Amino acid sequence: LDASTFAAESRAVVDFLEVYYRDIESYPVRPDTEPGRLRTLLPNVPPEDGEPVDVILEDVRRHIVPGLTHWQNPNFFAYFPMNASTAGFAGQMLSTGLNVVPFMWAASPAATELEGVVVDWMARLVGLPERFLFSGGGGGVLHGSTCEAVVCTLAAARDRVLSSLGHEAILRLVVYASDQSHCTFQKGARIVGIPPANLRVIPTSAASAYGLTADSVRNAVKADVASGLVPLYLCATVGTTGLGAVDPVRDLGEVARRYGMWLHVDAAYAGSALICPEFKDYIDGAELADSVSMNPHKWFLTNMNCCCLWVVSPGLLTSALSSNPEYLNNVGREGAAEVVDYKDWQIALSRPFRAMKLWVVLRRYGAGGMRAYIRRHVDMAKWFERMLDADERFEVVVPRRFSLVTFRLRPRHGGHDDMEALNRKLLMAINASGRAFMTHFVVDNKFVIRMAVGAAMTEMRHVQDAWELVQDKAKEVHATR
Ligand code: PLP
Repeated sequence: LDASTFAAESRAVVDFLEVYYRDIESYPVRPDTEPGRLRTLLPNVPPEDGEPVDVILEDVRRHIVPGLTHWQNPNFFAYFPMNASTAGFAGQMLSTGLNVVPFMWAASPAATELEGVVVDWMARLVGLPERFLFSGGGGGVLHGSTCEAVVCTLAAARDRVLSSLGHEAILRLVVYASDQSHCTFQKGARIVGIPPANLRVIPTSAASAYGLTADSVRNAVKADVASGLVPLYLCATVGTTGLGAVDPVRDLGEVARRYGMWLHVDAAYAGSALICPEFKDYIDGAELADSVSMNPHKWFLTNMNCCCLWVVSPGLLTSALSSNPEYLNNVGREGAAEVVDYKDWQIALSRPFRAMKLWVVLRRYGAGGMRAYIRRHVDMAKWFERMLDADERFEVVVPRRFSLVTFRLRPRHGGHDDMEALNRKLLMAINASGRAFMTHFVVDNKFVIRMAVGAAMTEMRHVQDAWELVQDKAKEVHATR
């Protein structure tokens, strides 16, 4: 790495991205491509001699960009958003440029300490009780994903119980989540050795707006205890993936306390909204939880990847995950009383300097700027929902809570069309237009279209265009049946 080449080539990349972002609306949100196309365009072996960066960038422009789904396109309403921002990029550049590896305090003291500061800032913004902050005896860490956060907390919960019951008791441990929880939870439970038969997926219904009820969890737990099983872990979600549903944290916390279960709150998407006072009720009861996680890389202007995990008892996490090989004892820790070694809070040893990215985002936009950003998206989603409500051709399937709107098209007046086929067709037509990208979910046998507002560049005009598009395609779909 020499400084002048570094500067020139980095500038070329920034110039390339400037053009990409300037033109982003001109690309179809999803590419018109077929599997295997890229292989036909690229050689089978790497070049023997290095090539200039402008040649490489030209190939990115010609071969890679046309095959991308443009997640930062303002007409991207699929899945959940994965925000990029100028500050997120600046922070990522600093992190990547410095390329330090804060796996232990001693391996990069300021990077470790910045992470501690930034997770405490985020905990305060989200409104978590003091016990999740370092100053309150808890603490936080930046992982790459919620999946990782869930695996680590499951391991901590498992080891806490097995340390008193003995390792054989692993076959009796039971974990609980709703039928709306993210599949990452089930994967995590498998990874930490919970027998598949001991994974309880508790049904939810429209009556509780697809949130878990304390009674349904209590009944499941009681039945397990009666048959000699050990309730281990309950995963509550604030803002489920399919519908944006919310589990009642306080009620579930009381059940978890009563039966000695670890309560985790997964707020991967909606955690960002919790910085606004009008959404704080959704985290009421957090003092009863053992851990909480949210993904700033979704809806908090922080480029991939970044997941905040907070725990009340870091000691439980570190006893499950710590390792102290001799080859890591060579960097002086003498005199360092209580330091955080983040390698013991996660699965891997090596880790990027994510704190830099989140810190730059928070400083550049400020808490007020972030609240305004979230509210803008929520207002756009509200408008879209109002349009659907006012149009008798459509049905809003689950009332919107954050910036996710779920809807479906009704059959033509007096018609008896198969609603699933109708809505599949509508979704395909919307996405084939290239003018928007939405995804679907199925609940109670209903095929539902999800419109998730939250891309960083989305403005009201894009949501209005999406509404025009939905109406046009609905007309076409009705006419062809
Ligand atoms: N939990 C919820 C509620 C989610 O919506 C998602 C992703 O959309 C996840 C977990 C998975 O997050 P990750 O990809 O960071 O593991």
